[in-house]
Amino acid sequence: MTARTDNVTDPALAAQLLLARRGTAYFSRKLNELSDPELSGPSLLDGWTRRHLIAHVGYNARALTRLTEWAATGVETPMYASPQQRNEEINFGATLSPVALRHLSEHAIVHLNVEWRDLPAEAWQAQVKTAQGRIVPASETVWMRAREVWLHAIDLGNGGSMNDLPNEFVDRLTPEIVALWKARGDTVPNLVLRPTDRDGLEYRLDDATLQQPAVLRGPAAQLLAWASGRPWDGLECDREVTPVAPRWL
Ligand code: ZN
Repeated sequence: MTARTDNVTDPALAAQLLLARRGTAYFSRKLNELSDPELSGPSLLDGWTRRHLIAHVGYNARALTRLTEWAATGVETPMYASPQQRNEEINFGATLSPVALRHLSEHAIVHLNVEWRDLPAEAWQAQVKTAQGRIVPASETVWMRAREVWLHAIDLGNGGSMNDLPNEFVDRLTPEIVALWKARGDTVPNLVLRPTDRDGLEYRLDDATLQQPAVLRGPAAQLLAWASGRPWDGLECDREVTPVAPRWL
């Protein structure tokens, strides 16, 4: 008998699964609001139509399914054979008929969810490797998926908004992006991010040893839009020109 519920004992992981599933539902809702001809329109991502984006999100679920299967079986199955294979797959997916594209999305979602649901409690800690070569526990696939579905639902460009993102998502991703810039040694603007809807929370981009940093303030979700390189709204900077965020991915 296959278990009908997750084999998850860690409440934090259970919360992450819920966040990913809510994001998946949000992505599917935005996708279902698009007519077939609208699928060929541009996404908010440079050079990608919605077809490319939907194919990418579908194939991403399959790639994360492979990592989850790796955790379950111990047989190494990488997310993608190579970056080239990943890109070719997306370009191919973008040529699928609307019905096939919608089927890819739905089927990939169901398959990943089944693998997560049936993964034994201890296997969530099994080590797997991401496409970037990071060694992570299988539980990381849940957060990786949450990021994809929530942000790419907005990138579909049919009314999804950063303001729809749950606070727990925003408050995890923004510091993660800031930490990534620092870990990579990126040149960051001398800036403090100050969410106006979070008590006492701020993110410092620089050591600011020489000069008083500028403050960029506004809703936390819009600061995430800025940090993730997406269109933002309602931010105020005490410098004349709002600095551009370093690249994220
Ligand atoms: Zn993506």
